[in-house]
Amino acid sequence: MNILVINCGSSSLKFQLIDSKAEEVLAKGLCERIGIEGSRLVYEPENGEKEVTEAPMPNHTQAVKMVLDALINEKTGVIKSLDEVGAVGHRIVHGGEKFASSTIITDEVIEAIKECNELAPLHNPANLIGIDACKENMPNTPMVGVFDTAFHQTMPEKAYLYGLPYEYYEKYKIRRYGFHGTSHSYVSKKVADILGKPYDNLKTIVCHLGNGASVCAVKDGKSVDTSMGLTPLEGLIMGTRSGDIDPAIIEFIAHKEKLSIDEVMNVLNKKSGVFGLTGKTSDFRDIMAAKDAGDERAEHTLNVYCYRVAKYIGAYVAAMNGVDAIAFTAGLGENNGYVRKTVCEYLGYLGVEIDDAQNDKRGEDIIISTDNSKVKVLVVPTNEELKIARETLELVSKN
Ligand code: AMP
Repeated sequence: MNILVINCGSSSLKFQLIDSKAEEVLAKGLCERIGIEGSRLVYEPENGEKEVTEAPMPNHTQAVKMVLDALINEKTGVIKSLDEVGAVGHRIVHGGEKFASSTIITDEVIEAIKECNELAPLHNPANLIGIDACKENMPNTPMVGVFDTAFHQTMPEKAYLYGLPYEYYEKYKIRRYGFHGTSHSYVSKKVADILGKPYDNLKTIVCHLGNGASVCAVKDGKSVDTSMGLTPLEGLIMGTRSGDIDPAIIEFIAHKEKLSIDEVMNVLNKKSGVFGLTGKTSDFRDIMAAKDAGDERAEHTLNVYCYRVAKYIGAYVAAMNGVDAIAFTAGLGENNGYVRKTVCEYLGYLGVEIDDAQNDKRGEDIIISTDNSKVKVLVVPTNEELKIARETLELVSKN
């Protein structure tokens, strides 16, 4: 069955058409600037040239229509008719406490997702627009929602409660939810497969280091703790997000800089992290180049970044009373051997030993620790779209 995977943002829509039997991407791409002047579709068929089409996309319904037209286009399409799309899998950011697993999308499910909008006001409404747009274009095609938060619903109360008045949890559901669940789930399972160990009897720490970044402790196949919280702002230092800070800093900055709470939150989300620390860039390729050219601030930024990752790993070793494997994934985790090595230098006490030659390799599932290393360290490229396609297939096949 071919599955269309949709990841819808407020003005963008990323897609992949995946042949779920062969687990191959037939075509992928994105619509940019939806509802804004200058909108365009970037479409890349398997074994074909990437093509960019500039055309007005006043709304997401139109964007989905353009994607579908591209998929069935006589010359560059990869399928003959839309009947060849068996199901659509939608990435949904926040499922609150309502969704502990993926689900077939029904009218009731849409209402339940709407109830989570307050927890992810930038993302969930956009995800819902994507569902509506697909329903309009493919009214009879089954759809599945796959939630970033669902994998973490197995966290115990001691990991998800904050030290706040309990009534805020009761009234507003303020608690740790965690994100990147699709990635953490995919990578931790892959680690078990690579090591030939049972997933339900393994302690793995997954470091998803991309522009957004989070660490997850996976014990016996279940998420038991993760670094992002109520929102994706908590935890690691990220591209532009601050990660953990003393909450009193918010009032301090507001007072000193004469900013509103919204403005301070904008600083924490968009102007902090490694972007804030370097004062220049959130892209680690630039930061590495600056460090190599002798830029001390770039070097300090990398130190602060790696130290925070190592600290979280230490915390999760304690949370699980041990660790068998540590995996790095996402843009930086997969591509930056310096960060991996620097993080692992803090973990000598665990018996972690990195094989430098292995650590220099790229773009594949690979064990980067030595044979003697007490804890296995791996690089596992994440594949959230494939995971969404797998979950979609499983649910659609059952119904
Ligand atoms: P993601 O959000 O997973 O796309 O990751 C984005 C981050 O990964 C950015 O900071 C990039 O600089 C970093 N990144 C992506 N590709 C590379 C690469 N080839 N080498 C080093 N860093 C990379």
